[in-house]
Amino acid sequence: MYRRCPRQYEFAVRKKLPWGISPAESFGASVHNALKKWGELERASSGKLQASSGQQELFAAEKKGEEIELTEETLLKIWSGCFSPEAFATRLEADFARARGETLLQQFYAWWARERRRVVAVEKSFSIALDGFKLTGRLDRVEQIDGGVAIIDFKTGELKEQDAVDSDLQLSVYALAAKELFDTPCHGLTLLFLNEDEVIERTTQRSEGQLKDAVRQMHALAERIESADFHPTPGKAVCRYCPYRGVCDMAAV
Ligand code: SF4
Repeated sequence: MYRRCPRQYEFAVRKKLPWGISPAESFGASVHNALKKWGELERASSGKLQASSGQQELFAAEKKGEEIELTEETLLKIWSGCFSPEAFATRLEADFARARGETLLQQFYAWWARERRRVVAVEKSFSIALDGFKLTGRLDRVEQIDGGVAIIDFKTGELKEQDAVDSDLQLSVYALAAKELFDTPCHGLTLLFLNEDEVIERTTQRSEGQLKDAVRQMHALAERIESADFHPTPGKAVCRYCPYRGVCDMAAV
C-alpha cells in the first residue's frame, strides 16, 4: 500500500480511517475464503487436518460418515456459503458477482483437476524478523512438489505480464517467508489469475541475489515510513480505486 501511495498508507495505517471495502475487494475476499476452505478440505481428505471452526458444517458431514468428495459441486457449495453480498450497491450487482464467482471457480476446478496436487498449507501466516523490523503476511496456498514446495497466490484482478511478475516484491517476500517456514527449497512462486475464460499461471523464481535486493528495498521503504514520508503519489489508476479519494485534496479523480 505504501508503494502504491504513501498518503493512502498514512490514512489507512497511521490515521486508521475506515477503509470501506469496495465491491471488487469484497469479491476477491469471498473467492479467497472459498479457496481457503477448499484447500482445508483437500488437506482433511488426506487425513492431515482436524476440523476448524470455519469449516464445521462440511466436516460435520464427514464425522457423520458422509464422504465429502472433492468435486466441482462441492466447490460451488463452498462458494455459495462464502460469497458475501454486503458491499454491492444492488441485488442485481450482487447476483452478477455471485454468478461470476461460480464461473471463476469452475475454471479453477478445471485447473486444479488437471494434475494430482498435494497441498501442505493454506492461508499460512508468517512473520520474518529483518534487522530492525518485522514483516508479516500470509501465503494463500503451498503445494509440495518434487524436491521442494511451490507457493501459489490467487488473483481476481488485472493480469500481470511475466516481466512484472519476475520483479514483483510481494513474491520476493513470499520466497523469503518460504525459506523461514519450510525446511525445503521453494521451487516455484505462482500468481494464479482467475477469470471467467481461463486460469492463467505466471510462475517465477528468486535467486539469492534477488532476495538480498528485496530486503534492501524493504529496508528503504521501512526507513521512509519511519521518517513519516507520506507524500502522495496521485494518478488516475491509483486514485480511482482509493477509498480516501473523497477526503484527499490530491486525488486525481
Ligand atoms: S486519493 Fe490518490 S493521492 Fe489521495 S491518498 Fe488516495 S491514492 Fe493517494
